[in-house]
Amino acid sequence: MTEVQERVSDERRAALRAGLLSWYARHKRDLPWRRSEDPYSVWISESMLQQTRVETVIPYFMRFMKRFPTVAALADAEVDDVLALWSGLGYYSRARRLHAAAALIVERHGGEFPRRRQEAEALPGVGAYTAGAVLSIAYGLEEPLMDGNVQRVLARWFRVEGLVTRAAARRELEELAANLVDGVGDPASWNQALMELGATVCSPREPRCGGCPVEALCEGRAAGVERALPVLPARPAPVDVELELFLVEEAGRVLLRRRGAEGRMAGLWELPTRELASGEARLFPAEVELSLLARGELGELRHTITRHKITARVYRAALGEDGLPPEWAWVGVEELKGLGLTGMTKKALTLGRGRSL
Ligand code: SF4
Repeated sequence: MTEVQERVSDERRAALRAGLLSWYARHKRDLPWRRSEDPYSVWISESMLQQTRVETVIPYFMRFMKRFPTVAALADAEVDDVLALWSGLGYYSRARRLHAAAALIVERHGGEFPRRRQEAEALPGVGAYTAGAVLSIAYGLEEPLMDGNVQRVLARWFRVEGLVTRAAARRELEELAANLVDGVGDPASWNQALMELGATVCSPREPRCGGCPVEALCEGRAAGVERALPVLPARPAPVDVELELFLVEEAGRVLLRRRGAEGRMAGLWELPTRELASGEARLFPAEVELSLLARGELGELRHTITRHKITARVYRAALGEDGLPPEWAWVGVEELKGLGLTGMTKKALTLGRGRSL
C-alpha cells in the first residue's frame, strides 16, 4: 500500500465524495461552458480560464464560440482574427497556441480533441491541467487535474505542508488527486466540484469553513492551520511602470504600430507608447521614434500585466513634420474592432473616443 493509499481510507474517500458531490449538485454556478460537454467548448473555456477570472472570461467565451463554433472553424481562421477576439484577455500566446493546436487536431485527429492524455498533451498549449479537464469533463474519463484551486483544497484536506513548487509536495498532491478520482464514477462532476469548492468556499485568505460541506473531514481545519496552506513560494514584488500613450487621429484613421513577432503581446497593435520609468526590462519602447505634437491630456489609465502595475497618461497628439516611419500605419476606425489590440490600447481608444470599440 502506498503512503497516499494509507492516508485516504475507503471510508474517508467515500465521505469526501458524498459530501462534495451533493454540495456541488446544489451549489454549482451556472456558467456558459457548463451547458455543454462538447470537448471543443471545454478546451476553449479551460484555456481562457487559466490565469483569468471567470467573470472576465464569460463574454470572451461567448464571442469566441459564436465566431469559431468548431475546431475546424478555428483551424481555418486567420490568426489575426483569433487575436482580435482575444484582445484584452491577456497572455496572448494562449490564443496563438489554441489556433496552432486546432490545426493539428484537424490534421492528426480528424477534428476531434484526442482522448488519450499523451496525445492531448502533445498539442501546443495543452498541459496536464487542460488535458485532465477535457478528458474528465467532456469524455468522462477518470483523469485527475490540478489547478490552483484543487491544489489548495487538497493541501488543506490532507494537510500537505511542503512547499508546493518542490517535487515532493507536488507529487503528493498529484497522487492524492489521482487516488480520489479513481473509481469516482462521475469524474466530470468530481473535478469540477473540487475546483468549485476552491473558487467559492475554500478561498486563499478567508476560507468559509463554516459553510464547507466537508469541514469535518479536513485535516488542515482540524489542526487550525488551513489559512497557512498550501505553502506557496514568495511572490515577486510588483513593478510600477509609467507610460505615456498618444492617440493620433486623422481623417477617420488612427495611428498604430504592430508589435514584433516575439516576446510579450507579440503581433498585437498598439498606440504610440513611451515608457517613462520601470525598475527592469522595458515592456514598451523608451522613446516613440515618431515626431508627435501633444495636444492635451485625455486622462489616466491603470492596467496590470502580470506583476507590472501600469499607470498611463493618454494624450491626444498630431503627427509632426518628420512623417511616418515604415513600421507605423494609419488604420481606419471601423477596422479597429477586428484588430488584435493590446489591452492598454483598447482602454486608451475607449477613453479617447468616448465609447468602447
Ligand atoms: S474546512 Fe475550510 S479549509 Fe477545509 S476544505 Fe473546507 S473551506 Fe477549505
